[in-house]
Amino acid sequence: MTLHPAAEAGKSPIDGKGIFAKKFISKGATLWRWGKIKRFSKRQFQKLGDAQKKKVLKYAFEDENGFLCLCLDNSRFINHSCSPNMAPSLSDERRDIAIRDIRPGEEITYDYAFLHPAGEKPMRCRCHSTNCRKLIRREVSNPPWMKRLKNLIRDAEKLKEKKRQ
Ligand SMILES: [Zn+2]
Repeated sequence: MTLHPAAEAGKSPIDGKGIFAKKFISKGATLWRWGKIKRFSKRQFQKLGDAQKKKVLKYAFEDENGFLCLCLDNSRFINHSCSPNMAPSLSDERRDIAIRDIRPGEEITYDYAFLHPAGEKPMRCRCHSTNCRKLIRREVSNPPWMKRLKNLIRDAEKLKEKKRQ
């Protein structure tokens, strides 16, 4: 499994294509599991043509070893939001989870601050959420919004554990 079976691509009001919940997805559910990924070292990236570079910069994220990782499943269409409903699990780095209940038809969003390649130019945000930060960049420190987001993630993971018992 890579992307949750109830998550499918559609036209997004945020940007181009997006991923939407087809059915209700409960808080704590696994939305994406590390799956089909193409990795580029910085040197391999430099050798790509301009069109390819653009695609990689638009869709790839940087892993902890500095490799640019491009998802080959639909998860690359997941748009950014400064109020995301999906976030990386803090207990299992190969998994992303729902950090709140997601209603059918709702767009699934992620905070690209977790993915944006370090050292790349910040991206302008158009998510229109009330707490929009306007710019998306990799955060090296732990600003208040990131602390709040991590609390939401911990809360969602606890819920999932309770359900298992
Ligand atoms: Zn925003």
